[in-house]
Amino acid sequence: MSWMTGLYRFPPIFAAGGYRASFFDVDGNRYIDFNVADLSMTMGYGPAAIVEAVARAVQGGAHFLLPTEDAVVVAENLALRVGIPHWQFTLSASGAIAEVMRIARVMTGRQKLLVFEGHYHGHVDETLVARTPSGGSIADLMGTAAGSADNTIVVPFNDLDAVEASLSGGGVALVLTEPALTNCTLVKPEPGFLTGLRELTEKHGTLLCYDEAHTFQFAYGGLVGEWRLATDFVVLGKGFGSGISFALYGMSDAVAAEFVRHSDIDIGPKGIATGGTIYGSAVAAAAARASLERMLTRDAYARLATLGDRLADGLERIFHDRGLPWRAHRLGPRAGFCLMPELPKTGAQACCSIIPEFIDTRRVYMANRGLWDAVASAGPQASLAHAADDIDRYVASAGDFLAEITG
Ligand code: PMP
Repeated sequence: MSWMTGLYRFPPIFAAGGYRASFFDVDGNRYIDFNVADLSMTMGYGPAAIVEAVARAVQGGAHFLLPTEDAVVVAENLALRVGIPHWQFTLSASGAIAEVMRIARVMTGRQKLLVFEGHYHGHVDETLVARTPSGGSIADLMGTAAGSADNTIVVPFNDLDAVEASLSGGGVALVLTEPALTNCTLVKPEPGFLTGLRELTEKHGTLLCYDEAHTFQFAYGGLVGEWRLATDFVVLGKGFGSGISFALYGMSDAVAAEFVRHSDIDIGPKGIATGGTIYGSAVAAAAARASLERMLTRDAYARLATLGDRLADGLERIFHDRGLPWRAHRLGPRAGFCLMPELPKTGAQACCSIIPEFIDTRRVYMANRGLWDAVASAGPQASLAHAADDIDRYVASAGDFLAEITG
């Protein structure tokens, strides 16, 4: 998996197994995991409820190319907690976002996408676009289709004037954003930003999609549910089945009505391009149902927030003890190193804290002490399987690390 070598930049560890908050490598070392597989293992390794549901589903038929009752239960559960009534299943958040973009183009008759600097929305060509210093758009990685940056506008997060200027041209089909940016460390919305964003999308006939692939794990019902955000689409993924490939997107009544009108691809005019052979398999739906009903409860989220606060408090304390003018990020289970006195308001500001040498050195130091640190753009991050002692161990070792590098 060549892309993973870029995540760690040193001879890779090979994983041999995991149990609760830790995994083991083939050399027999144990690591308490604060990367949580980039938020895809928030329930920990081998949670009994998921193991049981998945085993039962595989034995009883993993896939039928037909919906199962579990899929209905998942959709109904999400409708209640997120507040979005209609759901479609995919295998990855990237797959969900590709479909959302197609539906938005059909509904609006427009082509353009607006995203925020510091975003990541998966391996979809039109989203793999960066902002140039002059405010233009450029392909962020090699190999994406020629012209895929042409229809993507990238503006700073928390900047409603920039959003308004871009939407007023009238060509934007979809605004796609996380409610808080989580892939450039962490950028929280300023008070009023998300309300203003919704008002602007409505005013200009643009659809809005919140990507909660990560942030669904920050609060019961995700941040859309928690902050009662109005939207046309929500994308969820990762985390649900504890490593089982599964993601979904939710739609408002108005969007779903239009989508259903265009869902048949065989009879009459060809409908919207959606679907994949094992999207919404019985095993994925069973895992998601067990996740929602048995693991991701209100109590579980309260516990995650407590652990996340303990982690962020601990980081603030060690920064203070070392006299470092730094801040700890904090949102639900997510903490992190902000290497500046002020928390960032934009992706560009947040990226100043992503210093490869700092995270690469920290990772090796922590790994040698039985702790697996987060990837550069993310946490550390608590999972449901962590205990308070695990958090304290991370903080103590991070404090020792800072003492060594600051002399
Ligand atoms: N959206 C966000 C916010 C993400 O963080 C990611 C992955 N890190 C994705 C989408 C893509 O998810 P996947 O890799 O499952 O397609």
